[in-house]
Amino acid sequence: MPIDSEVSKRRIGIMGGTFDPVHFGHTLLAEAALNEAGLDEVIFMPAYIQPFKRDRYIADSRDRLRMLELATSYEERFTVSSWELEQENVSYTYDTIESFIQNNPDQKIFFIMGSDAMMKIERWKRGKELLGICNLVVGKREAGDRVQLEEHAKRLRGAFGTEIIILEKQMRPISSTMVRERITAGKPITDMVSPLVEDYIYEHELYIKSKETEKRIEECFFGMTEKRRLHTENVVKVAAELARLYGADENKAKLAAKCHDFFRGKDIEEINSLVRHYGLSEKYIDNPNLAHGKLAAEFLENDLGTDDNEIIDAVSFHTTGRRDMSLIEKIVFIADAIEAKRDYPGVEEIRVMAYKDIDKACKMSLERTIAHLRETGITEEMIDRDTIDAYEYFKEQEKEK
Ligand code: NAP
Repeated sequence: MPIDSEVSKRRIGIMGGTFDPVHFGHTLLAEAALNEAGLDEVIFMPAYIQPFKRDRYIADSRDRLRMLELATSYEERFTVSSWELEQENVSYTYDTIESFIQNNPDQKIFFIMGSDAMMKIERWKRGKELLGICNLVVGKREAGDRVQLEEHAKRLRGAFGTEIIILEKQMRPISSTMVRERITAGKPITDMVSPLVEDYIYEHELYIKSKETEKRIEECFFGMTEKRRLHTENVVKVAAELARLYGADENKAKLAAKCHDFFRGKDIEEINSLVRHYGLSEKYIDNPNLAHGKLAAEFLENDLGTDDNEIIDAVSFHTTGRRDMSLIEKIVFIADAIEAKRDYPGVEEIRVMAYKDIDKACKMSLERTIAHLRETGITEEMIDRDTIDAYEYFKEQEKEK
């Protein structure tokens, strides 16, 4: 049994969560864990993707992290870790705790959770092994669940040797869902979240932004295959980095990146019918590679009522590029070409260049695309005119510099 009971070890609580958003229920649980379980520190660990919430829209990682920092700033024994966010992958608690133990062998680890989580922990990935490498501190959510909890805890202690501390303090009946629903309904949340978090939410318009549009974007996003969703997440990430680097509007870049492939991978009948529905050129019939960006742009403009041409054009021209692209267009174009999973000859050079000189990177990418198309037997006339124009444009620009 690997659990060490040396009294000299620092007792560290790790409180994992989605924290979408963090509320008084979370901080009260952590406070009770400090006091009743004699912890020296509680580390809040926001999940990048909670395994059971994969198909749900959650607020941006950076917003959830910042809200946690604000909510916990009043207690010096609280810290916030971005470790799971930095992994940019599904957050399995076993992996987190295992890595934490490796890096902190002299600390005694308690995973802090609500009672619902404890009842399901054996179903988590490597949940049983998790119970063998860390201890638990559990806050009871309902007044009446003590007996059931104790019985469950007794079984887990017996089966895995886990030290489980069930807190006496009664938890507050608050959930992140309740907070979000109150915001959507325009009701106050003062009794649920810290004033700093409340200010942050309103300042950044979290959970209130044109709900219907947001919902439809999320539906489209989650309607894509997992592979395409991962690609899109990677493109969003690169687009955000480039937007920050080159001083473009990060939100626009992210939104365009998020929507660019909504129609990628749809079957050809659906693509053709949509090409006709939106009245696009016949050249897009039976041509999903070129049609998907145009359809996504039409969808944004006509169905979602987006009136921002920078976003619409960035989506529309993300595959072909075109002469004299805007900065947002270049960002989405190049982010799509270099995201982390892209693996083709020459990608690394384009990747490096994208962070030094975005025009040069676009030119390199277009050059490579044109060469690749020729290699696959596509004649000059069959290559989209916008791609040729874009390449010529960047060459001219380079000469003029
Ligand atoms: P959450 O909704 O943000 O809540 C975080 C924690 O606070 C949960 O343990 C929750 O307990 C507790 N809590 C919420 N409201 C509370 C209140 N009013 N009073 C007392 N406690 C309250 O987080 P989550 O999405 O459930 O995720 C919890 C952690 O479990 C994360 O670290 C996640 O990655 C991990 N997890 C891991 C796996 C896996 O490894 N396979 C699977 C699922 C979850 P309740 O559970 O009682 O709501």
